[in-house]
Amino acid sequence: MRIDLHTHSRASDGTQTPGELVRAASAAGIDVLGLTDHDTADGWDEAVEAAIDAGITLVRGMEISTRHEGGRGVHLLAYLPDPTYPPLVAELVRILDGRDERVPMMLRKLRECGIEIDAADVRRAAGAAAATGRPHVADALVELGAVRDREEAFARYLSAGRPAYVDRYAATLDEMVDIVTGAGGVSVIAHPWGRHERTSLDEPALAELADRGLAGIEVDHQDHDQPARRDLRAIARNLGLVATGSSDHHGTGKTGHDLACNTTDPDEFARLLELAQASAERSGRAAPGLVNGA
Ligand code: AMP
Ligand code: FE
Ligand code: FE
Ligand code: ZN
Repeated sequence: MRIDLHTHSRASDGTQTPGELVRAASAAGIDVLGLTDHDTADGWDEAVEAAIDAGITLVRGMEISTRHEGGRGVHLLAYLPDPTYPPLVAELVRILDGRDERVPMMLRKLRECGIEIDAADVRRAAGAAAATGRPHVADALVELGAVRDREEAFARYLSAGRPAYVDRYAATLDEMVDIVTGAGGVSVIAHPWGRHERTSLDEPALAELADRGLAGIEVDHQDHDQPARRDLRAIARNLGLVATGSSDHHGTGKTGHDLACNTTDPDEFARLLELAQASAERSGRAAPGLVNGA
């Protein structure tokens, strides 16, 4: 059984429509697919239809932008939450507004770097995405011939510390774990040690989050080297957290993240589902549940 629990569509910064993503997953031999666009459930309905047609199981989720103790950004995967839960809706609106407000500031900085780029270029690149992000600005820069690909756009202009970087609003990690639970879903920290030193989310910090209701951590991710995976797996075992693995596929938007390049162990997935079911029952919310296309 092939389980890939973290992927993006054009509802955020992936390059495939939700339907194309689901069909590509099916073609790649995936049995269970998690759709986890940044800060939105916008792609869910189209993905559900495609999953039923393709006969694969869909886990509806999202990857929420949060901040840990006022410091570093942490991506929190929320699986099977009721997307109409008012505290969740309120935070997602704030995050999406922050994403939109940041774009003109980034464009001003890019123009200061001598690049002729305006809002229409980014809108074209973003299409119908609910969550506009730096990858769309990157795509606009590619279209204008200013850079070769997203990678170069980040390296030269968009990454933290580069000249067009602008910070944006993120939810508080602790509060978001509570909100996801309140919405009847379960939360898993995405790539906890990806691109960061491992001390910021160390075992004591993860233990506190586990006490708060965090369900799991993403262990097998391309941003983690083998020692990081080994140590995160040990932490998950010590703390009773579910260990997941996934591709973080973005279509052609991110190289080295092919569908199912990492997968989740079926026993770990079964535990995650049990926790989700318990959370849904406790919350009294209409949590979405699995789409069983198989
Ligand atoms: P944002 O959501 O606007 O903060 O942008 C962050 C997103 O950009 C991440 O979710 C990644 O998908 C993408 N990203 C970050 N670094 C790179 C990179 N070097 N190349 C391509 N995509 C990247
Ligand atoms: Fe992304
Ligand atoms: Fe992420
Ligand atoms: Zn992601």
